[in-house]
Amino acid sequence: MKLYEFQGKNIFKKYGIPVQSGKLIYPNDSLEDLTPPLVLKSQVLTGGRGKAGGIKLWYGKKNLKKMIDELFHLKIKEEEVKAILALNSVDISRELYLSITFNKSKSTPVLIAGITGGVDIEEAAQKNNKQVIFTEFNCLLGITDYQIRFLAKNLKINDYQEFREIILSMYRIFKEYDASLVEINPLALTSDGLIAVDSKIELDDQASFRHPELYQKLKEEIQSIAGNDLKMKSEEDTITYVPLSGNIGLLSDGAGTGLLSLDLLAKYGGKVANFCELGGITSPEVVYKALEKVHEDANVKSILVVLIGGFNRMDEMAEGIVNYCQKSSKKIPLFIRMCGTKEEEGKKLMNDAHIPIDDDLHEAVKKAVEKAMEN
Ligand code: GDP
Ligand code: MN
Repeated sequence: MKLYEFQGKNIFKKYGIPVQSGKLIYPNDSLEDLTPPLVLKSQVLTGGRGKAGGIKLWYGKKNLKKMIDELFHLKIKEEEVKAILALNSVDISRELYLSITFNKSKSTPVLIAGITGGVDIEEAAQKNNKQVIFTEFNCLLGITDYQIRFLAKNLKINDYQEFREIILSMYRIFKEYDASLVEINPLALTSDGLIAVDSKIELDDQASFRHPELYQKLKEEIQSIAGNDLKMKSEEDTITYVPLSGNIGLLSDGAGTGLLSLDLLAKYGGKVANFCELGGITSPEVVYKALEKVHEDANVKSILVVLIGGFNRMDEMAEGIVNYCQKSSKKIPLFIRMCGTKEEEGKKLMNDAHIPIDDDLHEAVKKAVEKAMEN
């Protein structure tokens, strides 16, 4: 779960990481008590806000209401701006990058530090990899003082103690919240010391059961701002869609199942138009969306759906398929094979809706190929 900047900063504050003071503004809120200079920051969950015009500085000359309205009318990578964080602007002499995440291939946490943080960190890192330092560390030892000293020296930071406190707090947040990412970009050098000007925290959903109340609170906060947008986004996020050049649409609930079906379709002489994998644990809505996506492709003459229920429940998959068949105006040449968890319940739903299914995978594949070859 990705947190908004203001949520991340509330956590930073709790752990003693310096942040600017300010307040969250919703459309039609009174702006009377705001005084310049302010930085106005649209609260969205996608990155690259600054570059997309989602951050404005108000020095008191321009009309504040107008600037706020402009931000509320902005869309950043399809995401609407529904809340703005107004912060007391600080003068920045230098911007650094700091984050803690996992190095999955080495199974260790890693502290990443960049000497030039800010909106161009990725490009800077590509151009000159000496600018970014990766420090892997042991979970039991934590980040050691000598590692922090080494970084402070390379990042040319004078106040070691202040820098150390921030890094140790970031790691405490990382551990205590079961985060997969805690990022400060930029960490600004100002006349008042180091300040976390931005925050990016991502929590590991697999660990949500360890913090039920916390998750509930953060999720409600996110939903109160993002509303339905969030639901749609997270549903679509689990779908992997690969466009190909044939005429058979393929939908599977796992990558292995999908590859097996791709091989079988090729074996029986079929050519695949697209491959859609539902991913993770899904829902009727996700299946519906995935079918819509596969079906959108004008070249699709038949659709093969291969579902092997492990975590996925076939009754839920069937519900999505039935809903789609009933709502779609186009006739859909569907060939389905489903088995596994809640198989009987799923098959009953399909039977009740008069949607044929095949118990044999090869049969379903052959029929899908034959249909696609018909005309
Ligand atoms: P992002 O684009 O979503 O990463 O948003 P950030 O919060 O990181 O802000 C982008 C850039 O805006 C920063 O790198 C800063 O250069 C600038 N910026 C943000 N807040 C302030 C501020 O309070 N004062 C000044 N002078 N610049 C700021
Ligand atoms: Mn940033």
